[in-house]
Amino acid sequence: MESCIFCKIVNKELDAKIVFEDDTCIAFEDISPQAPVHILLIPKKHIESIDRIEKEDLKIVTHLIGKISEIARKRGIKSYRVVSNVGEESGQSVFHLHFHILGGRRMNWPPG
Ligand code: AMP
Repeated sequence: MESCIFCKIVNKELDAKIVFEDDTCIAFEDISPQAPVHILLIPKKHIESIDRIEKEDLKIVTHLIGKISEIARKRGIKSYRVVSNVGEESGQSVFHLHFHILGGRRMNWPPG
């Protein structure tokens, strides 16, 4: 999607600190980290959010979920939080599906 900043990162039209990439997904450092480790994992395909996953996208999403532990291990975090905000009220600000991988500090619950 042309106007989507994460699509621009996928297409290398916008710089990001990429930590992992394959044919299906890309992971990069969050520009405004909320923890010592804060990585965003996204599908290369533009999917708006978890709420917009179509049946044919499930393979992509499964692939992403499978990569999370690999990325976390690579960054040396054993305990971490995975977050995906869905919709504006939940805090979603970029409407391209992404999983926040946060770690390196103690997390609070419930989240704000
Ligand atoms: P959310 O608010 O859940 O949609 O998460 C969007 C995340 O994208 C936020 O944590 C932002 O800091 C992050 N972000 C926005 N623009 C960029 C960018 N150009 N490069 C890296 N992270 C970004």
